[in-house]
Amino acid sequence: MTTMPRDVQPAGTCPKCGSMAVTCTYNRFENPTKRIDSWEHRCADCGYRETQAFRSDEPPPDPPPVADVCPWCGRRGGKVLS
Ligand SMILES: [Zn+2]
Ligand SMILES: [Zn+2]
Repeated sequence: MTTMPRDVQPAGTCPKCGSMAVTCTYNRFENPTKRIDSWEHRCADCGYRETQAFRSDEPPPDPPPVADVCPWCGRRGGKVLS
């Protein structure tokens, strides 16, 4: 069981308050039987928050998502692997 360090990047403008304080956080949890890629966009100014997790042990939606690409800003997670 391995929990990777968090990968946090600035994510542009908040859709709720217009602040630039939005961060995009990527986490990956992985063990031999399952993998969870989780994404969070969060605004430090107004508390706006969106989260999405992709679990390898649940049936994927159709079409299947690309789990290591952020569903909102489109960046690719991966610095967590270093
Ligand atoms: Zn905001
Ligand atoms: Zn993002």
